[in-house]
Amino acid sequence: MHLVMIGGSDAGISAALRARELDPGADVTVVVADAYPNFSICGIPYYVSGEVTHWRNLAHRTIGDLESAGMRLRLDTTARRIDVPARKLLITSAGGGEEVLGYDRLIVGTGAVPVRPPIRGLAGPGALGPGDGVHLLHSMGDTFAVMQTLEQAAPASAVIVGAGYIGLEMADALTVRGLAVTQMEQLPEVLPTVDEELGALVHAELAARGVEVLTGTTVQAVTRAQAGQPGRLHVQATAADGTAVTRTTDMVLVVVGVRPDTALAAEAGATLGVKGAIAVDRRMRTSLQDVFAAGDCVITHHRLLGETYLPLGTTAHKQGRVAGENAAGGNREFAGSLGTQVVKIFDQAAARTGLRDHEAAPAGFDPATIESEADDHKAYYPGSHRIHMRITGDRTTGRLLGLQLFGHRHSEIAKRIDIAAAAIFNDMTVDAVSNLDLSYTPPLGSPWEAVQMGAQAWVRAIQPR
Ligand SMILES: Cc1cc2nc3c(=O)[nH]c(=O)nc-3n(C[C@H](O)[C@H](O)[C@H](O)COP(=O)(O)OP(=O)(O)OC[C@H]3O[C@@H](n4cnc5c(N)ncnc54)[C@H](O)[C@@H]3O)c2cc1C
Repeated sequence: MHLVMIGGSDAGISAALRARELDPGADVTVVVADAYPNFSICGIPYYVSGEVTHWRNLAHRTIGDLESAGMRLRLDTTARRIDVPARKLLITSAGGGEEVLGYDRLIVGTGAVPVRPPIRGLAGPGALGPGDGVHLLHSMGDTFAVMQTLEQAAPASAVIVGAGYIGLEMADALTVRGLAVTQMEQLPEVLPTVDEELGALVHAELAARGVEVLTGTTVQAVTRAQAGQPGRLHVQATAADGTAVTRTTDMVLVVVGVRPDTALAAEAGATLGVKGAIAVDRRMRTSLQDVFAAGDCVITHHRLLGETYLPLGTTAHKQGRVAGENAAGGNREFAGSLGTQVVKIFDQAAARTGLRDHEAAPAGFDPATIESEADDHKAYYPGSHRIHMRITGDRTTGRLLGLQLFGHRHSEIAKRIDIAAAAIFNDMTVDAVSNLDLSYTPPLGSPWEAVQMGAQAWVRAIQPR
């Protein structure tokens, strides 16, 4: 049995590891377009900030580790065409020559590519690029280009286009490096994956750290600055009221989201689904015979919404593992995502799982969201912080639908969101969250855990007895 994975990131490597774990005799080849298999691209901001001191430290596993796990790596090798009836993959190898690889089962893990928004200067003839200090950020190659700008051009300032979680992590990273950062976001508040009430708290943290945050601001053009201007790039934008906003800067980072990289599978005839991602069933099978797919290139089964597109590393690992298991002859289903995520912004963290009101209502729920606050541990023990919570539940059934959190980075925000993720995963009501037997000691928690206090606030407001 020859299994071939296309893509050497979270999905492709997870698939290869699982297949080898289940069938140590399986012949596993991983085709990777670059030379950086199994790198944690989620860690890029912390290499840029200097907290991770060498890019090699971002590797989840070394090439040696992967090879000893039994996979054959074809690095700097690009998959060009899938011949489904013949079960053959056309590749261009590192030396530039074409080669055909036969397979019994194929797993596509081509991931996503960063969106290039319609900003004048970013596309077309004469488009600005890394050599001008204008960057997109997704791969290790993009990271090396960013580092080259930082180390060789020594920029004093940067404009970040986009204030999603990667934009925020990069605002943090570049500020830590000493750059003066301006963040431009066309939506009314930063971190649009949480409600504006919590986004405003993230905004305040950015502002307190010296980041100039311009929300409701749509970037129109990036051009080379004229001689004598204080930066080498000129950014033109429009505020929500139509006013022109301009900044000169040394570096521009465009981080406005990703789109699934599906060209290879689509050309082979794979059915596409939500947002143009590859359609897969819960066993991660595509519409093509013996071709599986996983990660940022595929649709995501959401436990409350059905089919969505939710590109996240945590999901890519799980889907890849399922695809690898099934390709090796197993029969596992991807259990589904809840969109659980967390981001650190300087000394604060924001997290969410499940649904917010505007997502829950169209899905047939009757949502109500209640905001509350609680201490992360007993306030009499030094160092306690307030946690801000927004709990969403269904008024009719009492079912817990979602939780959003904002609090200090040492307030266990990530693990606290996971309490709610586990509860939603198991269809619990908001009320039942109070029944969970959770740990307590004053320096680390309270007899009623903060998330349970939030659940009780929801029940008091929505289901008073
Ligand atoms: C800066 C940053 C921070 C992030 N932080 C987080 C986080 O904190 N938490 C989280 O959950 N997620 C995070 N993510 C998202 C997460 O990294 C992705 O969801 C995850 O990497 C997706 O994995 P993947 O394997 O599907 O695809 P990708 O990581 O996109 O990898 C695709 C792979 O396919 C290869 N490839 C593509 N086309 C071909 C071809 N034709 N032939 C051969 N190889 C090919 C590429 O070289 C690459 O190896 C972050 C992403 C970025 C960029």
